[in-house]
Amino acid sequence: MLYLIATPIGNLADISLRALETLKSVDYVASEDTRKTGLLLKHFGISKPQIAFHEHNEQQVLPRILALLQAGQSVALVSNAGTPGIADPGFVLVRACIAYDLPVTMIPGPAALIMALVLSGLPTHSFTFRGFPPRKPGKRRRFLEVDANSPHTLVFYESPHRLKAFLADALAVYGDRETAVANELTKLFEGVRRGTLSALLTTLENEEPRGEYVVVISGLEKV
Ligand code: SAM
Repeated sequence: MLYLIATPIGNLADISLRALETLKSVDYVASEDTRKTGLLLKHFGISKPQIAFHEHNEQQVLPRILALLQAGQSVALVSNAGTPGIADPGFVLVRACIAYDLPVTMIPGPAALIMALVLSGLPTHSFTFRGFPPRKPGKRRRFLEVDANSPHTLVFYESPHRLKAFLADALAVYGDRETAVANELTKLFEGVRRGTLSALLTTLENEEPRGEYVVVISGLEKV
């Protein structure tokens, strides 16, 4: 069985009982960063053989994980934070398990996009998650334009270094929409700032963004 296990996005107390039970019971833990996952496992007194499985070796390591699963071994897949498969490795492995008729399940838990969306105060009944926008301005604008007429709330992940440039491009493409910028969720300096894109850019003018960010932008639907 393959278990996709969600892990905390900051606060270690957010690990679930089932996540811990499953991590204790599996034969192998596949993870993006074996050092980081090693620290997480150690924190909870768990010791397991690990397999490095990240975006640069996914295709090479996939056959090994499939062979283990076919031999009846259990494998947990965790990412550095949050839900595997969400802006993190997972998709390719899940698809392969389905193709080979191998059982796969999930131990659900934290995902930064869900927490930010719910706290944004913007409509949650219908939303589009776009993950990380491209780094280059031209590509980023074209990426944003895809949803310019969407009625759905839009959710993005962004690095602190590109946050202001991203918000400026979003303002240029979407106009001055209601937006929420959530950072350091579940951590000591958790914050959610809400306002129009232009107001948020003004607020951030004299700030050097740090940490991890989710940006939630309203769609065209009237609230
Ligand atoms: N799999 C993760 C999930 O379920 O949310 C996402 C992994 S992705 C590589 C990392 C990005 O998620 C960060 O750059 C940031 O945009 C967002 N993120 C993760 N943890 C966060 C947190 N505690 N606060 C705000 N954003 C976070």
